[in-house]
Amino acid sequence: MNLISQFSNIVGINNALISQSEIAPFLTEHRDFYHGKSSLVLQPTSTEQISNILKLATKTKTPIIPIGGNTGLVGGQASDLKGKSVLVSLSKMNKIYNINSTSNTALVESGVILQALQSVSAAASRLFPLSLGSQGSAQIGGLLSSNAGGTAVLAYGTMRQLCLGLEVVLPNGEIMNDLKGLTKDNTGYDLKNLFIGAEGTLGIITKAVLKLFPKPRGQSVAFIGVPSPKNALELLNHAHERGNLTGFELIARLGIDFATRHIINTCDPLPYHHPWYVLAEMSSLKSQTDAQESMETFLSYARDNDHASDTVIAKNETEAEAFWSLRENLSYAQKPEGGSIKHDISIPISAIPTFIEQANKSVNHLIPNARFCTFGHMGDGNIHYNISQPIGADKQEFLDNRETVNQRVYAIVDQLGGSISAEHGIGQLKRAELQLYKDQVALSLMQRIKETFDPENIMNPNKIL
Ligand SMILES: Cc1cc2nc3c(=O)[nH]c(=O)nc-3n(C[C@H](O)[C@H](O)[C@H](O)COP(=O)(O)OP(=O)(O)OC[C@H]3O[C@@H](n4cnc5c(N)ncnc54)[C@H](O)[C@@H]3O)c2cc1C
Repeated sequence: MNLISQFSNIVGINNALISQSEIAPFLTEHRDFYHGKSSLVLQPTSTEQISNILKLATKTKTPIIPIGGNTGLVGGQASDLKGKSVLVSLSKMNKIYNINSTSNTALVESGVILQALQSVSAAASRLFPLSLGSQGSAQIGGLLSSNAGGTAVLAYGTMRQLCLGLEVVLPNGEIMNDLKGLTKDNTGYDLKNLFIGAEGTLGIITKAVLKLFPKPRGQSVAFIGVPSPKNALELLNHAHERGNLTGFELIARLGIDFATRHIINTCDPLPYHHPWYVLAEMSSLKSQTDAQESMETFLSYARDNDHASDTVIAKNETEAEAFWSLRENLSYAQKPEGGSIKHDISIPISAIPTFIEQANKSVNHLIPNARFCTFGHMGDGNIHYNISQPIGADKQEFLDNRETVNQRVYAIVDQLGGSISAEHGIGQLKRAELQLYKDQVALSLMQRIKETFDPENIMNPNKIL
């Protein structure tokens, strides 16, 4: 029996895609950087099926690529042009087994879409706080494998902090069960944390126990026009002291220009233009009035101390959603503006204004009139330092600068004590940079861990390392 039939038999013919028209959507990705080949996509429906797939893959040395919602931005889920990889889509493993409102935990399969978990948790008066622009497609397994962040990290943490346990199938087919979901469990090495952020290079995550939180009774969202990132930093410090900050995003004016120009139903949040904006959210477990009062006091401080030029509080939930939607659409809004060179970096929060100043200067020197669509999760020190081509420039000529721009930006990040990847991961996109900027002993340990878990190198080869 040929290999395609052997793999297909494990999941059943209805769960094996072999026609190129069905496989095609799995071979491209959001940024359109990677175009791969494959003859087989498997859609298993159980952990046991995945175990059998990986046993056969190890025996036949077949490369396996796990795919969640295919929203990853670094090509971790993308296949190569050799066409030998079998893609394992987790989309049919989408059961939410249990929402435990007493333990504040959710037990889910890894193919559950984030938005589905958010909705089911909300119906049980609980909050699953991870929130990001791709939440309608991204799956729990993909989010865990890339240790996703999003807009509420400063209050609730990344997927790593939101995970209490995992079930994982190892490359040899063994199943590791760590699903007790305990807050305290000091029984040796914390193995789950090896798989979180591993981008599918060590095994396939099949189930997870995730943390839930009481659903806030009040939420107040405001747009604040600020003169500079330094003022935004002052505001962040002050907002932290108030204790109920759940979102703090920095946005350059150009982002608002792009969003109002290209995203339908998007309005300028404030009547006049400002060089920078902060989108802030405050929550309260007590009441809507409490959240609103906290925000109003915070905004008075901002205006009285000249850190804010103008402010507006969302009047209702619809307006709050519109404010967040503007922020979440910034990536999409950049596309129609031509070529862009993007960086998902983190630096110590106090160094953000210095980073922006130094990086803009360095890039402008190389590309006069480059347009900076800088935005990001300022509260986490995570900036999406995105550069759009100058108006009227040739797209390819601009993109040819990518490597030099990256070198300049990452050198500044490194010098300020930052990281070349804050939340999107390494995948294929930043493999070379990882070798340059990661501690050499840490890199060697990562290589040895990979060889121990996956001696035949079948799990998502040529990603990260
Ligand atoms: C519009 C938009 C906004 C975004 N905003 C954010 C943001 O704010 N913060 C952020 O962190 N990210 C963001 N992202 C990136 C992306 O959504 C995240 O990386 C997400 O975690 C990927 O989930 P996914 O299910 O789509 O995974 P995929 O893209 O399918 O896969 C991502 C990686 O995980 C591996 N993988 C997938 N499932 C499994 C599994 N079950 N077991 C083992 N490995 C697996 C894949 O092989 C790949 O290496 C954004 C993306 C888009 C398109």
